[in-house]
Amino acid sequence: MVKKENKFPKKILLASPRGFCAGVKRAIDLIDLVCQKNQGKEIYCYHQIVHNLTVVSRFEKKGVIFVDNLNAVPKGSILIFSSHGISPAIKLQASNLHLQTIDATCPFVSKTHLEVKNFAKNNYHIIYLGQKNHDEAVGTVGEAPNNISVIQNLEEIEDLSFSKKQRLSLVTQTTLSFDETQNLKKELKKRFPQIEEPPQDDICKATQNRQNGVKKLVKLGAEVIIVLGSPNSSNSNRLKSVAEKMGAKAYLLDQITDLDPQLLSDINCVGLTAGASLPEEKIVEAITWFQQKKTRIKEIKIAEENLNLALPEINL
Ligand code: SF4
Repeated sequence: MVKKENKFPKKILLASPRGFCAGVKRAIDLIDLVCQKNQGKEIYCYHQIVHNLTVVSRFEKKGVIFVDNLNAVPKGSILIFSSHGISPAIKLQASNLHLQTIDATCPFVSKTHLEVKNFAKNNYHIIYLGQKNHDEAVGTVGEAPNNISVIQNLEEIEDLSFSKKQRLSLVTQTTLSFDETQNLKKELKKRFPQIEEPPQDDICKATQNRQNGVKKLVKLGAEVIIVLGSPNSSNSNRLKSVAEKMGAKAYLLDQITDLDPQLLSDINCVGLTAGASLPEEKIVEAITWFQQKKTRIKEIKIAEENLNLALPEINL
């Protein structure tokens, strides 16, 4: 019997923009600079600088020690705060340990910290839409731990109870799904019409662009979406869920070589994108992998991204 040969996809639609956003680039440039200026010294980083295995292991090779607990950091050491931001309690602990700190928090995350701080100062209770244990959420909630409720889904909104007189405000983690968040916001506004939002959306533009990219790829015929990114990357996971909500199959992978090619058997068109913390070299590797299999690559541009975030001054 002649074995039927499975067909490999003929076409890849490649989303643009994809991969590094301005906040991740800034955090990586900053840690790089600290490494250059402090060769031979121990450099610590509180949490992964960005949620990507390739990036983290590159800096581990340069001698950076990533910790989740400041008790592991010797007094007086150099400590970088990751791009996801930290709570005032962690800042205080670092200062008590006389650590020389450098803050790589993305300015868009800092914006949400400021919102929480201001709302709390003005006696608002804050509803924070976010993932309870994510580094970003933990840091932001830490700005006003007694004035904030973290909400992840519609069921949790049902459990909320506030009087009509209670001042309420709404702040969102920067990397959530834009569409899912709109549904949660709609429900919150129905239940608590007095709730106030910051003038500008908290979900950052880079997150929105990458999610719009996935939607476009599915609309253009991608039956499978491959998202390159690490499993603990919030925005990468959201890209996968956006694809699934649109009816496509989706895989989240650290690198293309983790993909079982059998999963693409008899698929005609595949969409390829990457979370905001994935280095471009991993995309290039994926493109080459597909080209070697004679697959055509077509780039689909959704938006221009040319934001450059300045580095803070460091005196080390
Ligand atoms: S995804 Fe958005 S909030 Fe997160 S680092 Fe990038 S620009 Fe900043």
